Amino acid sequence: MRFEDAPDPKITSPKDVIVKLEAAALNHIDIWIRMGATGMQIPMPHILGADGAGVVVEAGSDVKSVGTGDKVCLYSFTGCEVCEFCLSDRDFMCIRVKSLGERLDGTYAEYVKVTPKNCFPMPSYMTFDEAAAFPLVFVTVWRMLITNARLQPGETLLIIGIGGGVASAALQAGSRIGARVIVTSGSDEKLERATALGAAHGINHKEKDYAKEVKKLTDGRGVDVVVDSVGGEVWQKSLSALAHGGRLVTCGATAGGEPNDDLDAIISKELKIYGSTLGSREDFCQLLSFLNATKIHPIIDRKFPLKEAAAGQQRMEEARQFGKILLQTSR
Ligand SMILES: [Zn+2]
Repeated sequence: MRFEDAPDPKITSPKDVIVKLEAAALNHIDIWIRMGATGMQIPMPHILGADGAGVVVEAGSDVKSVGTGDKVCLYSFTGCEVCEFCLSDRDFMCIRVKSLGERLDGTYAEYVKVTPKNCFPMPSYMTFDEAAAFPLVFVTVWRMLITNARLQPGETLLIIGIGGGVASAALQAGSRIGARVIVTSGSDEKLERATALGAAHGINHKEKDYAKEVKKLTDGRGVDVVVDSVGGEVWQKSLSALAHGGRLVTCGATAGGEPNDDLDAIISKELKIYGSTLGSREDFCQLLSFLNATKIHPIIDRKFPLKEAAAGQQRMEEARQFGKILLQTSR
């Protein structure tokens, strides 16, 4: 990854919008794209980055929903506009989906070209940094916890591996909804930060078997919902930590994509397992209402100058962050 000059994006269609970015945020997908792990052929040079916030500086003649001077946060997906997924605002499921930083030039830049469908009004209580930090992780969390797992107030939520952007957003949203949140980490420092952010209990999974600890904390009952983006050997423990009728939601498998299942637990406890990824435009709208009502501030780990984006990615690869890593895109 190199920092270099690129031409400013120009309006080439009456539906184009140019946004001057004030901040961008890093996501794991950026690293996978850079490593070629998505299997997608991407012409070089390519600009990464799915998350960003800034000000509209130019809009094509057909653009009605946003105008010059509007402060916007970005929803990074646009589809073909004609398939059943696109027609129901689920562009992210479109087989021809284009997302910022993947098939399109992204937000590690001073300017980005988008469509009006990518632009949403920035929550007025947020800074540009916060508005760049929340979209991808929070829409992922919203779809996992609310649309798919249907987390209710008063339920118990277990989050495996607190620290990354999705896990910390799940903690913030889950506790704000009124769930009792238990988190695990191999770092006592991260557990302390999670407790300060609203976690009811933290379990160091390097020192203790979290499935057993969860049973103790819930009088033997287990939790209602588990967020497990680890997979691998952890998967069976997550199943065993669930109460009868519990739901496990997974949005990744950092420790391995072929975990040992426990069909006996799934059958006898009537467990439900949801795969979840990203979120629809409707999820994003619901999320914006939720954020505007709750005034949640997304957690920001550190901000790097744009030219030091590689150092930011390295910090993420080493899992040293708590919350989102940002890039300062404006001069
Ligand atoms: Zn489509």
